[in-house]
Amino acid sequence: MKAQDISREKSAELFEKAKNYFPGGVNSPVRAFKSVYGTPLFIERGDKAHLWDADGNEFIDFCCSWGPLILGHNNSEIREAVQAQLAKGLSFGAPTALENELAELIISNNKYVEKIRFVSSGTEAVMSAIRLARGYTKRDKIVKFEGCYHGHSDSLLVKAGSGLVTFGETSSAGVPKAFADETIVIGLNDKAALEQVFVDFKDQIAAVIIEGVPANNGLLIQDKAYIQFLRDITKSNGSLLIFDEVITGFRLGFEGAAKYYDIQPDILTYGKIIGGGMPVGVYGASAEIMGHISPDGGVYQAGTLSGNPVAMAAGIAALSILAQPGFYENQEKTTLAFVEEIRAFIAENNLEVKIFTLGSIFWFAFTSLDKIQSADQIEHESMGKYKIMHRELLNRGIYFGPSGYEVGFISAAHTQEDLSTTISAIKEALLIAFE
Ligand code: PMP
Repeated sequence: MKAQDISREKSAELFEKAKNYFPGGVNSPVRAFKSVYGTPLFIERGDKAHLWDADGNEFIDFCCSWGPLILGHNNSEIREAVQAQLAKGLSFGAPTALENELAELIISNNKYVEKIRFVSSGTEAVMSAIRLARGYTKRDKIVKFEGCYHGHSDSLLVKAGSGLVTFGETSSAGVPKAFADETIVIGLNDKAALEQVFVDFKDQIAAVIIEGVPANNGLLIQDKAYIQFLRDITKSNGSLLIFDEVITGFRLGFEGAAKYYDIQPDILTYGKIIGGGMPVGVYGASAEIMGHISPDGGVYQAGTLSGNPVAMAAGIAALSILAQPGFYENQEKTTLAFVEEIRAFIAENNLEVKIFTLGSIFWFAFTSLDKIQSADQIEHESMGKYKIMHRELLNRGIYFGPSGYEVGFISAAHTQEDLSTTISAIKEALLIAFE
């Protein structure tokens, strides 16, 4: 049965006010709830797996701030570490021991990076990684894949062009065509397309960049053989392979997708989880490649708040917990049990919806396909069903990301009770979506 719509009175009021201050009333577009029903919810607080909005509605949260909150909201270790640092100062613009401590925690538990640089967002990490790849190879072009998101820097706001030519077209106003001309966009899981690119632009390609496991446009799990192909073709052409692990880093495991595929990329980028909920991004590589970054090398990159002590304290607290044995195995087990129970219900009721999952990431795809590995396999018309499901879930106290292209996350703070409540709600919501 359709649940009654939750009250959004206060959220609606705040949203009207916010529209006076911010374009679309938000500080990041997807928050505007354009793809789903109703006004966005203004959140007041979070604790463990739960959120409370301005109208006093309580939700079990599967968006988890778009990934960072693998330990849930208001984790006591992170909170206490942040509070202890607050008393000592917020920012110095000078080196601190905290940066060493977080770097050591990362590097000693992650064999894929030898040296890193802290920045303040995923966008910044990837933008810097691209510059490093260009500086290192002395080449300009980069190859990205349709359906992968790498933040909003100019070189990466590019989508596949319409003709046979693989030059990209900008996906945002304000990105010069000259930038798009340096970015080649091809489909995922298409070996022939990449082979052709390396024929056409042989000595011009600085890097191929891919999300560790693409998770910004559905969850497009690639076969290991394909990622190995990316490794081999980049290596044999003198290009670098960049894994953007802003979502997958410290999510699939402490060593992210690199470990999942057991493949060594040349440059890796991280964000989200690494800051424990504070703004931190990282790019890293071998000591030799990182030696090209200033002040050691000629590739310039800097940041007033880079390595911010409060953010470092949060990251250290978070990653110390994640580094404990068994953490990721538990996460995966919990997520799989959750997914399997819903899958059984889907099968019993013969519903045309799939749940793709990896680690503690899951994605509902309204499709008949058993595998979705490229953006063009996603059925855009099916998003109407997600929209209904999203509304029905909100009305039952379950908070999913406000777009069917977004994945969901299970945190260590989700209890069995949270998950059972959610499963019941999902069953009802799915039946309504298929009415
Ligand atoms: N890369 C990937 C894979 C991401 O998922 C994101 C953010 N969703 C970014 C880069 C950009 O990170 P940020 O939003 O922190 O700038």
